[in-house]
Amino acid sequence: MQHSIDVFTDYQIHVQKPIHTIARLAWRRNADPGGKYFEVALELEHPVFYLPGQYLNIVLDGQRRSYSITNLPDTATTQLILLVERLDGGLASSFLDSAAIGTPVEVVLPFGRLVPQAEKTHRHILVATGSGIASLRPIAEWLYKQDGQLIALLWGLRHRTNIFWQDVFDTFAADSDKFRYAITLTQPDDDWRGLVGRVTDHITDIPFDPESYFYLCGGKAMLDDMRAILKVRGVSASHILTEQFHI
Ligand SMILES: Cc1cc2nc3c(=O)[nH]c(=O)nc-3n(C[C@H](O)[C@H](O)[C@H](O)COP(=O)(O)OP(=O)(O)OC[C@H]3O[C@@H](n4cnc5c(N)ncnc54)[C@H](O)[C@@H]3O)c2cc1C
Repeated sequence: MQHSIDVFTDYQIHVQKPIHTIARLAWRRNADPGGKYFEVALELEHPVFYLPGQYLNIVLDGQRRSYSITNLPDTATTQLILLVERLDGGLASSFLDSAAIGTPVEVVLPFGRLVPQAEKTHRHILVATGSGIASLRPIAEWLYKQDGQLIALLWGLRHRTNIFWQDVFDTFAADSDKFRYAITLTQPDDDWRGLVGRVTDHITDIPFDPESYFYLCGGKAMLDDMRAILKVRGVSASHILTEQFHI
C-alpha cells in the first residue's frame, strides 16, 4: 500500500483507523550509558501508516501500554523502533527488556495527536523530559527535513549518563542553523558544561511568536508547570500540544 506523509491534516488523523496486529521483537540495545533507557524494534509483516509523534499500544496480559514510535514512517519499513525507560517491576517495560528476540507482541496502532504542525507555522518549540523525547525525536526529525522550519528542542534529564541520541541532534544542528537543541540536567556532575535545572527554568529563554507551536511530552508535573508558564507568556492553549507519559 502506498502512503505519503508529505501532507497530512487533522482530517487524516481523524480517519486513521487503528489496526490490531502481531509484531515480533526484532532487536534491542541500550540507549544511554547509564542503562536507564533502551531501544527495541518490533517487526511487522507489512508497513503501517502513522504520523511522526504517534504511538502504539502493546497488549500484554490483557493490559495496554503505550509507546511512541521513534522512527519516521516510511512506506518501505516494517520496523517500529521504541525507546523504553526501564522501570523496576514494570509489566510492559520489563517484558520488552527481557523477552526473547522473535517473541510475538500484540500491538494496536496508530494513536495520538501530538504531530507536526508544519502547515500552520514555521516555528516549533519542543520540550521533553526523560523518555518524552521518544515522541519528539520523530517530530524534530520530520520538521528538520522540511524546508524553512525553525526548531528549538529542550530536553530535561537527571544525570549526564542518561543522555542518548546526542549524535542525532548534533547532526541536525550541524546541518541546519534552523535546528537548535539544549539538554538540561537536574543532577549534573562537576564536568557538565551545559544547562542545569528543570526545563521550566529555561523555557523563557527560547524565542517564540504568536504563530509558534509548542510540543510538550513527559510527566504530568512538567506539563502542568509548562502550561502555566506559557499561559502567563500569552501562548494560546490551542498552540500547546501535549502528550502525558505518566503521572
Ligand atoms: C501516549 C503515551 C506514550 C508513551 N510513550 C512511552 C515511550 O515512548 N517510552 C516509555 O518508556 N514510556 C512511554 N509511556 C509510558 C508507558 O506507556 C508505560 O506507562 C510505562 O512504560 C510503564 O509501564 P510498565 O507496564 O512497564 O509499568 P507498570 O507495571 O504500569 O508500573 C510499574 C511501576 O512503575 C511506575 N510507573 C509507571 N509508569 C512510570 C513512568 N513513566 N515513570 C516512572 N514510574 C512509572 C508505576 O507507578 C508502578 O509503580 C507512554 C505513555 C503514554 C500514555
